[in-house]
Amino acid sequence: SIPLGYFGGIGLASRNGILFKGSNFLDVMTDVTVVVMDKTGTLTKGVFKVQDVIAAEGTDKAELVKHAAALEMNSTHPIAKAVVSYAGASASKAESVEEISGHGMTGKVEGKNIHAGNSKLLKKYNIPYPEEVDSLVETIVVVAIDGKYAGYITIADEIKEDAADAIGQMHSLGIKTVMLSGDKQAVVDKVAKKLGIDTAYGNLLPEGKVDKVQALKDAGNHIAFVGDGVNDAPVVALADAGIAMGGLGSDATIETADIVIQNDQPSTIIAAIKVGRITKRVVW
Ligand code: ADP
Ligand code: MG
Repeated sequence: SIPLGYFGGIGLASRNGILFKGSNFLDVMTDVTVVVMDKTGTLTKGVFKVQDVIAAEGTDKAELVKHAAALEMNSTHPIAKAVVSYAGASASKAESVEEISGHGMTGKVEGKNIHAGNSKLLKKYNIPYPEEVDSLVETIVVVAIDGKYAGYITIADEIKEDAADAIGQMHSLGIKTVMLSGDKQAVVDKVAKKLGIDTAYGNLLPEGKVDKVQALKDAGNHIAFVGDGVNDAPVVALADAGIAMGGLGSDATIETADIVIQNDQPSTIIAAIKVGRITKRVVW
């Protein structure tokens, strides 16, 4: 039978917007040694806004935006939404559109072959681009028109208000922090430094996130992974405690998660750990 204390713990958690899908996860949270977090949507707001458009020589800015937006209209990625909203009604129709996970979009717009995504996308299609693109400390959408580099769109996201405090509290509890992201390393490093995160990996494909969590597990760590949903289901499944955060998460991730945090505040992760620890004291 389940000790009564567990019911108290689950009730306490749910009053704080934390749904434990089983009393065993209260114990799992107590034993967590590393909290691994997704960057976009978990530690940052995940609401991107276009800041600037940098067109290569011979490319028209408006055309660059219009062509990129035509492809991005077919994506639900937060980066795509920023480009579409910036372009307004100017986007034209795209054909043969393909979304390449962790890379971006390809397709035909007004008879031209368009690529819009990160530099990995351009590499994949053997499209050369200036070196400086990879060292920019900004999230960008690089655009190629008919196989030629055409410029980039800079996009900004904001760090959540309570993220730094949540990371600090994890460290005071003796827990190590790791951030994983598909975004470029320069951006990831900047965010990690601002938040005081122990280790941060960028440029990761969804499989890469799985590999990082597996390596941490193999090293004997007890892992809680916190993701906001998009593409995160495999890592959520692999972690000792898979946590889905925020209402935005995909159904697959919420389904897979062991714990669902209904709000989007990283500090609620601390509450989940503390409820586990309090419950353990009551039960034992
Ligand atoms: P994350 O959630 O960590 O950003 P994703 O796998 O969702 O990871 O995306 C990784 C990267 O792939 C993004 O940072 C972006 O550079 C690129 N990307 C993915 N989808 C798109 C898209 N629709 N348009 C432009 N870039 C994209
Ligand atoms: Mg994502």
